[in-house]
Amino acid sequence: MNRISNAAITRAEQQARVLLANREMSERVISKRILDAFRAENITASHLVGSTGYGYGDAGRDALERVFARSLGTEAALVRPHIASGTHALAVALFGILLPGDALLYATGMPYDTLHSVIGIGKTSPGDLSSLGISYREIAMKEGALDLAAIAAALRKDPAIRVVALQRSRGYDATRPSLPVSEINAAAREIHRLRPDVFVMVDNCYGEFCEEAEPAEADLLVGSLIKNPGGGIASTGGYVAGRRALVERCAARLYAPGVGAEIGSYEPGYRLFYQGLFLAPHTVTQALGVAAFTAALFSEMGYEVSPRATEARTDIIQSVSLKTPERLIAFCRAIQANSPIDSGAVPEPWDMPGYQHQVIMAAGAFVLGASIELSADAPLREPYAVFLQGSLTYEYGRAAVLAAAAAVGDA
Ligand SMILES: *Cc1c(COP(=O)(O)O)cnc(C)c1O
Repeated sequence: MNRISNAAITRAEQQARVLLANREMSERVISKRILDAFRAENITASHLVGSTGYGYGDAGRDALERVFARSLGTEAALVRPHIASGTHALAVALFGILLPGDALLYATGMPYDTLHSVIGIGKTSPGDLSSLGISYREIAMKEGALDLAAIAAALRKDPAIRVVALQRSRGYDATRPSLPVSEINAAAREIHRLRPDVFVMVDNCYGEFCEEAEPAEADLLVGSLIKNPGGGIASTGGYVAGRRALVERCAARLYAPGVGAEIGSYEPGYRLFYQGLFLAPHTVTQALGVAAFTAALFSEMGYEVSPRATEARTDIIQSVSLKTPERLIAFCRAIQANSPIDSGAVPEPWDMPGYQHQVIMAAGAFVLGASIELSADAPLREPYAVFLQGSLTYEYGRAAVLAAAAAVGDA
């Protein structure tokens, strides 16, 4: 493993610039769609203010949901500050559309770690899907793609399967790539052809606005507002978007059957959600630039990276296999030390609830835990891969990644 040379930095910089130049057209297309959504819904200053109490007739909230649906290309959306995280949004979706006796099929292999206790994988937790008599099946990806033959066979054999879940992003899994939108849409069409009674749910976390279109042929898209679609501005929240009937079932789950999405007030108002969505295509561009810079720089240093700098991207995650826990810890500490908030904190591996291994996390974000802001996470397990994502701007991210490269060189 090499220390970092100036020539290597220059070459990495050039590769990041190529990505940023190529990304221009997608950002333009997405930005136009989002602006058109604001215009079509006639958003005015009155939509930015909040409401109190039950929130009946909260026009800002309802219009925000229509703007989101148009921006994502779905029929309807539930977009709420009351959805506390991506995991919560996914739980709302799964509990919303699965019934006792149904089976959930994850067709992208093991789901993101925090979903294990929602589903009841490995061990059961009170209130999980398994305790309601909802069973779980899993099909791993094959050679970096969905195993459509195995999915079709499972759907033919098992009439209990009601939901096929696809995780767009690699999550904390260095062994699988993220799923392109075209592949998700093609799989959704095929699943619906084979079994019109099956719903396709996409865990869209980290994927939003990385490509020109969202995987809207799925029945539900689910994500967090402190990742991509919050643009680095939203201070909390999550969304479930897709077919109207399913979104309504999720609203009944989040609030209560009967009242559904009609209630839910938020006194601080909706400006940050609108403004965050508006900025999201550009923020995502900046994050993608930092990811490409990281990929190029660390492959110059001799590390395995995924995706490679020039590969097509459908999420903002960059993994670097650092091979030793010492380098992993050094990397995360350097990212932390070069963050605007809590730069003096020293990240330590810890047993984070919902995760199977010890995890180390670097996050010095304005919105606590926001991972559209620069952040690095890693489970302490082979191959000691660090997962880096976010950055509000390219320059801030680049500077922190350079510091991480120097720290890894010394470790
Ligand atoms: C972040 C993430 C989640 C969970 O979101 P939290 O906000 O951390 O609860 C789920 N799935 C994927 C793929 C994620 O990236």
